[in-house]
Order: sequence, then C-alpha cells, then structure tokens
Amino acid sequence: MIVGVLAIQGDFGEHIKMLQGLGVETREVRLPEELENLDGLIIPGGESTTIGKLAKEYKMIEPLRKFGEEKAVWGTCAGAIFLSKDATRVKTGQPLLKLMDITIQRNAFGRQVNSFEVGLDVPALSAVSEENPPFDSVFIRAPLIESVDAEDVEILSSLEDGTIVAAKQGNLLATSFHPELNDDDRFHRLFLTMIKK
Ligand code: GLN
Repeated sequence: MIVGVLAIQGDFGEHIKMLQGLGVETREVRLPEELENLDGLIIPGGESTTIGKLAKEYKMIEPLRKFGEEKAVWGTCAGAIFLSKDATRVKTGQPLLKLMDITIQRNAFGRQVNSFEVGLDVPALSAVSEENPPFDSVFIRAPLIESVDAEDVEILSSLEDGTIVAAKQGNLLATSFHPELNDDDRFHRLFLTMIKK
C-alpha cells in the first residue's frame, strides 16, 4: 500500500510522519504522474487558497478529481475546504475539487488567535481501537461543515453546540481539525481502513 500526501503547501510532513509511524509507505505528491499507483491520498492543512492556486498551476485539479472519484482521499482543515463541493467565505475564483457533498464555511472560528483544542467524541473510531476516549483535536483558523448535502454523508463528529467538524462519504473523509498534530493515530488508522486493496 502506498499513501500519498499532497505536498504543495501546508503541514504535509506531519501526515507523512504519522503514516510512517504506522509502517505505511508514503509519497509526496506535487505532479499528476505522482498519483500513479497510489492507494489513497491525504490533502493537508495549510492555506486552501494557496493549495488551490498552485494545484491549478501544476495542472493537478482534474487528476485529483479523477483520483477522488475512485480512491480514498482525506482532507484536513484547508484540505477539507479543497475537497468540498461548495464552500462559503472562500476567495473569488478559489479552486475547489468539488468531490464531497458537504458545504464548508472557511475561517469559521475567527482569527489565528482563536485557535483552540478540544476533546471530540468520535464513535466511528471504535472501529480501530477498543477503548475510544475523546480525540484531542486542534483547530487552527479552521473551517466548519455547514451542511452535509447528500444522504450518504455520515457525520463523524460535532462540537457540543452541534457544529459538524468531521464527515465521511464513501471513500472521502473531511476533518476541520488536524489529527496529524498530536500523538493519537486513530484517525490515520481509520483512513487506512477506507483504502480498498
Ligand atoms: N484558514 C485556512 C484556509 O482557509 C485553513 C487553516 C488550516 O488548514 N489550518 O485554508
């Protein structure tokens, strides 16, 4: 199994470390041909406007779309924005992959200083660990999931006020926060179960 991490901008190195810690072969992906023979792809957090703009320049939009129609893709934070079919507060002309039936609100929790950490209840993680304590989640200028727009989108986790922050639709996974920024690898292990072999 080889899992790629889109390495155009953002904290792709943290995802790679996490995957390597799980014994998974990884590849940094910047160009269309680097998607070949991959079994899954993670789109990291960073700045979705930059990721989108550079992906367009590298002629990656269509290849990424095709990849996500068949294989497992997980977007964290900026990556979740890029993965979504619809997003609010995005920059005019900001490219989206339009793969996952969710509406995302960008920069939903205020400015950088309003970043926060919270323990989230994620029942789906019981598939990869017997004990399922709250998942310590880091939100950095994070987006929220305004709505899930198809019946097959599963809400994986919400904040106490009901704000949706993690969802799954078939082979696609979106998290508003950064599971690569702590020592807990349960989300990465959940993603690996979504990869068909
Ligand atoms: N605010 C960023 C954006 O709009 C996302 C921040 C992050 O990925 N931590 O792309």
